[in-house]
Amino acid sequence: ALLITQKCINCDMCDPECPNEAIIMGAEIYEIDPDKCTECKGHYDKPTCQSVCPITNCIITDPDNIETDEALFEKFVTLQGLA
Ligand code: SF4
Ligand code: SF4
Repeated sequence: ALLITQKCINCDMCDPECPNEAIIMGAEIYEIDPDKCTECKGHYDKPTCQSVCPITNCIITDPDNIETDEALFEKFVTLQGLA
């Protein structure tokens, strides 16, 4: 899963673009629900939130949630109800 860092300026660009509705407004900045973030596997070639975020290195790979491509795709299938 990806992680939104403290660099976030709450510009609201990423939230509507997430295909998994994984991005939610937290107490101070936007946050990503790691259970819903597939790093865009199954939807796009690249994480779309990173593509639209105007701040460099604002959205990073969550060091506490490193997942294989296989695991991310399995999450995609589960979220889609295809399993
Ligand atoms: Fe959503 Fe994709 Fe960003 Fe994960 S990487 S939060 S699935 S837009
Ligand atoms: Fe924050 Fe980047 Fe999302 Fe804007 S696009 S709300 S700066 S994480």
